[in-house]
Amino acid sequence: MSEAPSLPSPSNEQAYMYVSALEAGHLSVPWDLIVAGDRPDEPMVCPSLAFLLRHSKSNKRIVFDLGIHRDIKEFAPAATEQFLPDVTQTVAESLESGGVAPSSVDLVVLSHLHWDHVGDPSPFTTAEFILGEGSKKALGLEAGSSINPTFFSSIRLPEDRLRFITASDLNMAIGPYPRAMDFFGDGSMYIIDAPGHVDEHINILARTSTDGAWILLGGDSAHHPDLITGKMQVAYRVDVDGAVTCVHDYKEVAEENIHRMRSLLEVPRVQVLIAHDMVWYGENKGKEVFLPHTIPALVQ
Ligand SMILES: [Zn+2]
Repeated sequence: MSEAPSLPSPSNEQAYMYVSALEAGHLSVPWDLIVAGDRPDEPMVCPSLAFLLRHSKSNKRIVFDLGIHRDIKEFAPAATEQFLPDVTQTVAESLESGGVAPSSVDLVVLSHLHWDHVGDPSPFTTAEFILGEGSKKALGLEAGSSINPTFFSSIRLPEDRLRFITASDLNMAIGPYPRAMDFFGDGSMYIIDAPGHVDEHINILARTSTDGAWILLGGDSAHHPDLITGKMQVAYRVDVDGAVTCVHDYKEVAEENIHRMRSLLEVPRVQVLIAHDMVWYGENKGKEVFLPHTIPALVQ
């Protein structure tokens, strides 16, 4: 029995998004943080992908995630020691080499505030920054906020240009997701509540054609594509006191979200792409899916 969810049909003259991948640095992640069971000894060397989305009608420019800051060692020394970040091209440089000035970007959407997704916000001089409401904790804007230096950096966002997606913004369901926001009100791009990795982690679900193709940009909803298919399982450790340690703050919630992503794989013409997808990157590095090119809409 198929559990494939359905996504809304295109309207007449449907607006959609052109989506381009952006190089944004690499990192090394120990496999035992990522997958349970047998795994290679060598760490998983993976990209921290970012994306440019352009609205087909208004030409609004959105960047999803900002990858890794070139000087991340200064901002997150603990993370640098553990994850060996390597930045040959920043998001700003990837945009510029593709003919897009970072200062012309309208919106920066951050899946969450871990150091490998915040990059360097400073070249985005006019963009509004869109965040899940849970990011207030990581920004220290909420009482009782505590920051784990292995995952968060001291990089600052422009506080006068932050917009938090609230529970009332997430006022509709789409496909397998119970909470989403039709961002432009025209069915071209949805902000998705994709919880589990951290408080109020968000994804983007974007239409990529006028005739029914989509892409889900999953951020850190999962860290390897085999976790989405179910071939691999999320790693965790149970300490002597019974506490569960996992790369996701809320393991079971993250797994429920992974099941939702898995159900999207059943829907024709939906591509699912996560920030650290080493398999996709291995197949597509240097190809015409990076700006100035666009990731082609799936045909089937
Ligand atoms: Zn990450």
